[in-house]
Amino acid sequence: MYKINDNYQKLPGSYLFSTIGKKVSAYVKDHPDQEVIRLGIGDVTQPLAPSIIGAMHRAVDEMGCAETFHGYAPELGYEFLREAIVKGDYEARGCHIRADEIFVSDGAKCDCSNIQELFHVDNVVAVCDPVYPVYVDSNVMAGRTGTYDAATGMWSDVIYMPCTEENGFCPVLPQKTPDLIYLCYPNNPTGAAITRAELQRWVDYANEKGALILYDAAYEAYISQEDVPHTIYECEGARTCAIEFKSFSKNAGFTGVRLGYTVVPKDLVCGGVSLHSMWARRHGTKYNGAPYIIQRAGEAVYSEEGRAQLKEQVAYYMKNAAWIRDGLAGAGYTVYGGVNAPYVWLKVPAGMTSWEFFDDLLERAGVVGTPGSGFGPSGEGYFRLTGFGSYENTQKAVERIRKLG
Ligand SMILES: *Cc1c(COP(=O)(O)O)cnc(C)c1O
Repeated sequence: MYKINDNYQKLPGSYLFSTIGKKVSAYVKDHPDQEVIRLGIGDVTQPLAPSIIGAMHRAVDEMGCAETFHGYAPELGYEFLREAIVKGDYEARGCHIRADEIFVSDGAKCDCSNIQELFHVDNVVAVCDPVYPVYVDSNVMAGRTGTYDAATGMWSDVIYMPCTEENGFCPVLPQKTPDLIYLCYPNNPTGAAITRAELQRWVDYANEKGALILYDAAYEAYISQEDVPHTIYECEGARTCAIEFKSFSKNAGFTGVRLGYTVVPKDLVCGGVSLHSMWARRHGTKYNGAPYIIQRAGEAVYSEEGRAQLKEQVAYYMKNAAWIRDGLAGAGYTVYGGVNAPYVWLKVPAGMTSWEFFDDLLERAGVVGTPGSGFGPSGEGYFRLTGFGSYENTQKAVERIRKLG
């Protein structure tokens, strides 16, 4: 008789977005004439750029013709895309990453989630707090996190690294040494960025301790400040201690078509075993990446036309984020983020919890955001607002919040 993986039973329910959904439905029922504005969106809203659509159309036509048809893609992804990635994302920044170290995939979320399969169940995992839930959840399912304490919202065997106002939302090096360290910068949900010098400290620490950094750079395109690194490989020594995840979701609008990549440098060797060769065998398959049509779309992201169009989209979301940040700061709120990421991390007024602020904002302004406590214990007292909505709605929402006084 078959048995299930009991670790799945340990996962606490994902109450955050279902609770938000229920509260919003109840509000809409009671206030049928009030327009609800959602500033909690974690998905892009702008359409794919014309250069990307053009590339997809051409690739679709190729698929319908015997001479240009494409079946299974090569195991790392098509070379045209991996070469474009290396040129655009690494060589341009003086980083030594080769095309055969790039693994094209159907998005960063799966890769962030699956990467832990390469590692022994005894590895100790460290995460930022608050954090994007995928890192912890995937380790829970693998049985690496110990027991859950509902009162604190923490797992016994996970090292939580608090990201607070005091440390600028960048954690200090942990006292207890972790084996696997998840870092995401620019950060979701806090919108915080890390400087090159700060990230170098993490790289030095990992190399010294024999730890591995799993670096999520999904929001790299939103970086506006000079001293913020676009990739961890801008740091010296990162080739021997870091895997990097990138996505085409937030920079180019691929959340629905799916495309990402993971960099596994060939210098990553553990006990004589190459992580690169292990990742090539993931899920027992030689290839689980994206379709030809989508990889051609990804290539278009690096064309001159593509870059110009995407710059406009990023600027659109960042204009919204800046509007939220400046508007709320002007109304007396303490706000963080919104400079190198489309997320604004608002400090809720003293004496209120994240959920109380959520209820108040919905009730009095008809505006929906995300309670910070949903991302981890250190998120309590904060609230996430995003620039992914329309400019008109963003302006309207900020106006309503300002009027609350
Ligand atoms: C949106 C997001 C991603 C992107 O995931 P995809 O699967 O590529 O869409 C990755 N990491 C973080 C932290 C994100 O917020």
